[in-house]
Amino acid sequence: MKKILITGGAGFLGSHLCERLLKNGNDILCVDNFFTGSKTNIAHLIGNPFFEMMRHDVTFPLYVEVDEIYNLACPASPVHYQFDPVQTTKTSVHGAINMLGLAKRVKARIFQASTSEVYGDPEVHPQLENYWGRVNPIGPRACYDEGKRCAETLFFDYHRQHNLDIKIARIFNTYGPRMHPNDGRVVSNFIVQALKGEDITIFGDGQQTRSFCYVDDLIEGFVRMMNTECGFTGPINMGNPVEFTMLELAEKVLQLVGGKSKLSFHPLPQDDPKQRQPDIDLAKSKLDWAPKVQLEDGLKETVAYFKKTLG
Ligand code: NAD
Ligand code: UDP
Ligand code: UDP
Repeated sequence: MKKILITGGAGFLGSHLCERLLKNGNDILCVDNFFTGSKTNIAHLIGNPFFEMMRHDVTFPLYVEVDEIYNLACPASPVHYQFDPVQTTKTSVHGAINMLGLAKRVKARIFQASTSEVYGDPEVHPQLENYWGRVNPIGPRACYDEGKRCAETLFFDYHRQHNLDIKIARIFNTYGPRMHPNDGRVVSNFIVQALKGEDITIFGDGQQTRSFCYVDDLIEGFVRMMNTECGFTGPINMGNPVEFTMLELAEKVLQLVGGKSKLSFHPLPQDDPKQRQPDIDLAKSKLDWAPKVQLEDGLKETVAYFKKTLG
């Protein structure tokens, strides 16, 4: 049985990861400051003798004894990461330093939840891991993008300088049950709006694309990546390569939910990437991993979740 630390474990992805690693027979320490995560996300795990919850902010040092670390702590949606941009950068950078310092002391393998946002608004398509990205370092998204880029830098420097066993996954848009209903992400926005019979808010002309990965597929990828041989560091793209425009997504959500919602068009936020699609050849060959869940099926699960939580 491994003792595994999951930072950001009460969040959307973190709570699914806690569940999955508990099922695999591990002893889980979930660390979260509840900025965007919630106790309800992990309420069903409380009481399990192999699950422990600790309220803690990763920008402060943490002294615990663990075998593996998954570092997920960081608000992920623009609404949340722009609420306190300085804290966002601190969470990525100081959080990475503390978790790397911890990993170094206890000789733990450490996984970093990085992001497709390290590619910024890309000029190559789809994005391969060797693309260096095009990020505006002073824009409103920079606290997140540059924070995550710096975290990757720190991971590689600890790897080279201190021989740390690191694993970096660059996650593309992921959706599913336990997404925050008010975090402004497109899947949760469209579903909640459709369920409430409100207008579906399309930013720009709705022709920009994203590729959406269902949470279960992503978590499978995390676990496979963590269990690769020592020395394989990544970064590795994880996401669903099937690309949709926001108009297509709105149509699919409306088909599933029904109701009378209309589309309403709003200005495109600054620095909003026009196109995003992962190249997942590396994950396919290295992890034998590819997403399995179709958008319609994943949306059904997510709609069911929001129906339940919104009453
Ligand atoms: P989330 O906001 O649901 O989860 C983040 C968790 O981190 C929350 O529980 C939050 O309370 C916690 N947290 C934030 N700051 C903290 C701090 N200083 N100390 C301790 N805990 C803190 O978001 P998510 O979608 O689950 O994302 C998890 C990770 O995956 C993040 O690092 C995010 O950048 C990355 N990621 C997610 C996506 C996606 O599509 N969901 C895409 C790319 C990358
Ligand atoms: N750290 C931590 N837990 C540990 C070990 C270290 O939180 O178990 C923090 C520590 O506060 C330090 C950071 O990780 O600021 C980086 O640690 P490292 O050993 O790399 O550097 P140093 O202690 O020399 O600053
Ligand atoms: N978007 C939209 N309507 C919304 C929320 C988002 O059209 O209500 C668009 C947004 O402008 C972006 C895409 O959907 O082009 C994905 O946005 P999200 O915030 O989910 O993810 P990210 O931009 O980080 O990929």
